[in-house]
Amino acid sequence: SNQAKVAIVTGANKGIGYAIVRNLALSYYTSSSSKHPFIIYLSARNESLGKASLEQIRQEFVGRKLLQNDGGNIDIKFLKIDLTNKETIDVAAEVVNHEHGGLDILINNAGTAFKGSAFDSNVVRTTLATNFYGTLEVCNKFIPLFRPNGRLISVSSEAGSLRILSPELRKKFTDPELDIDGLIKLMQLFQDAVDRGTWKEEGWPTQAYAISKIGVTSLNRIFARHFKAEGKEIIVNACCPGWVKTDMAGPHALLTPDQGAETPVFLALDEETVPNAPNGELWKSKQIKEW
Ligand code: NDP
Repeated sequence: SNQAKVAIVTGANKGIGYAIVRNLALSYYTSSSSKHPFIIYLSARNESLGKASLEQIRQEFVGRKLLQNDGGNIDIKFLKIDLTNKETIDVAAEVVNHEHGGLDILINNAGTAFKGSAFDSNVVRTTLATNFYGTLEVCNKFIPLFRPNGRLISVSSEAGSLRILSPELRKKFTDPELDIDGLIKLMQLFQDAVDRGTWKEEGWPTQAYAISKIGVTSLNRIFARHFKAEGKEIIVNACCPGWVKTDMAGPHALLTPDQGAETPVFLALDEETVPNAPNGELWKSKQIKEW
């Protein structure tokens, strides 16, 4: 069919998200199967920042026969999504459903991290609100829109390794019966323990960001298992972009944002289909990693 392929990237006004949008367009353009129209939503919580970034990408591509108004078949559009504002997520899902009647690629990239070793109840609450609960909300609203062989990709982090948990907690996170409600309970357990001041005794590290990313990688595994059981053809994977020079990681990080975008873009445009595609894995440098 000539139906357009539709992708959404959250937190794409800067950093790795911006590089993902840019490289999705470039990779799609140079790949052999780029006959169909491809619509990429550069999404951001701040409309003026998002639209300025979109304009910057459009300027870069002028004259390259890549964008639709330039003889190409790719369109990049702005979509407002704030992970901590359910209404923006609802409206965004309605727009995508109304405009395209479906979705092919969702890249959960938006995320937040406090600087340094900041740690208290508020740091944990704020970090989980965006990285875990916000990502979950976006998934819940967009999953119903997925077309067959859709790709749900979450930018997690290998900082969120199971090794930082006590053996008891590790067992709970890797329980093959763990479902979304059970995962939410585990994240609440962490928050409660931090609120009480007993997190160390209860087996948690003094790290908000890493726990939020353990949550994201767990979500990924649970969704993969559920979709398989339901026969839903969505390929779900999480990835670590590596240590990337962005506002989050600072100027001393090793990789450029374009390098950080490589694995998520690879996972988004890989042509493997269900049931052969690896599912529910954590990737880094285009390879499956131990969690
Ligand atoms: P940046 O801080 O450069 O970018 C983060 C992006 O997320 C921004 O667009 C930001 O928007 C957006 N964002 C933050 N909170 C929200 C929210 N509530 N709703 C919507 N968007 C939001 O960081 P990176 O590019 O480095 O990070 C991208 C992803 O990569 C994150 O998930 C991060 O955890 C992950 N990661 C990064 C690593 C690195 O070394 N850089 C390593 C491992 C993982 P705004 O501009 O409005 O703040």
